[in-house]
Amino acid sequence: MIDQMRELEDVKSAAAAKQARIAVAFDLAARREQTAAGVPADEVGVGVGAEVALARRESPSRGARLLGLGKALVEMPHTFAALESGQLNEWRATLVVKETACLSVEDRAAVDEELAVDTGSFAGYGDRAVVAAVRAAAYRRDPQSVARRASHAVNERTVTLRPAPDTMTRLTALLPVAQGVAAYAALARLADTLKSSGDERSKGNIMADQLVESVTGTPGGISGVEIQLVMTDRTLFQGDSEPARLAGYGIIPGELARKAIRGELLADAEPTGGEATGQAAGLGPDGSLNAEPESSALKVWLRRLYTTPTSGELVAMDSKARLFPPGLRRFIQVRDDTCRTPYCDAPIRHLDHIIPWHNDGPTTSTNGQGLCETCNHTKETPGWAAKTITRPGQRHSVETRTPTGHTYRSTAPLLPGSALAMAVKASVPVKPIVREEPLPSVKPLVQVKPPGSAKPSAQLLERGMNRHSTPEKRVAAHSP
Ligand SMILES: [Zn+2]
Repeated sequence: MIDQMRELEDVKSAAAAKQARIAVAFDLAARREQTAAGVPADEVGVGVGAEVALARRESPSRGARLLGLGKALVEMPHTFAALESGQLNEWRATLVVKETACLSVEDRAAVDEELAVDTGSFAGYGDRAVVAAVRAAAYRRDPQSVARRASHAVNERTVTLRPAPDTMTRLTALLPVAQGVAAYAALARLADTLKSSGDERSKGNIMADQLVESVTGTPGGISGVEIQLVMTDRTLFQGDSEPARLAGYGIIPGELARKAIRGELLADAEPTGGEATGQAAGLGPDGSLNAEPESSALKVWLRRLYTTPTSGELVAMDSKARLFPPGLRRFIQVRDDTCRTPYCDAPIRHLDHIIPWHNDGPTTSTNGQGLCETCNHTKETPGWAAKTITRPGQRHSVETRTPTGHTYRSTAPLLPGSALAMAVKASVPVKPIVREEPLPSVKPLVQVKPPGSAKPSAQLLERGMNRHSTPEKRVAAHSP
């Protein structure tokens, strides 16, 4: 069994090497074809990584990295041979390439020669040992590369957000060392000051609270930005356990969503038992819900978008305009949640006409999809096409066709309550969207009016917490 496992590991490495070779050959062929088709020089190569990604079931950015790995390995024959023979796996080969990325082609080839990984020189090396050995060889070859590497690394500074257990989240900043140390020291100093003046929170808690406050400009950090909560009416008003979806985070428990609506999420860290939920909060005639009537600082906007009872597809609407009007933008953003390209989890940056406007594609929720910056650019490249293949009563589906003629299908994620909605024979009153202000030239496209209960099967709640701006401004802030 152990021998078998090792054999399969070798096969995986060999397969990765083969995929790298194929990717490089495909890139060459695609570039040749694009050039022949008259694609401008600086656009040649766009979409190649995206097609590698789709084929490998990876995100577009990872697809581009895998293509880059292949290209680099071609210039490092010893490392490539080590991958083919299983002496390096795909990840460690990536580390070798990464550590030599700052070198010239000649120096990289020289490092490859010196390390001679295919002779077993890395036998027993873990990730760190591999990085250390390659880095040392690279420094010996070109000490200047350290400086270049550092200046290159500065361009990778970024802030990321990923989920942590227990409805916590990790907000991470990758920073140049001086800035990172300075930011940390400032937070620590402030925490020390507050603690010495009697603050009973832990130092870590104060630093975290202060970070949120300085970034958002508000204690508790939930004003001036918009957070979107999507949940069913049953979750809001009847204490149902169906979880809610928090845009940019994912699924959160229903109870936590109700707390957020009531504004207790950060103000009150103590658990409050099973109280009657949502009863105190009344829905105003304008569709807004003010959880704290005495304080206008924290406003909760309640918006309802009904789903069709059988599929959970949101009731659609359209516009005569070319640009997606705010209500429709919001609708598509909520429906799609993240970029619609398969395997791409990037946030939505563009609302795309699936069939382009200049090809008579209408501005409708059916013909609209949310895409990230990269995927939007890729779709504009010659040879890429998409069409909606949603059948009535089904979730929104898009089929993308790549220049090689392969098709990939993307279906909008399930909304909270959708599974339940399919079981319950609930009906949907005709009420496309409740807005603070009527939206010109937006009308319901699909009007589902089955007989039966009057309860909507799902609702979209939006919590706008903007003290200073109108809802329309919030939309603008939300969507570049
Ligand atoms: Zn994308």
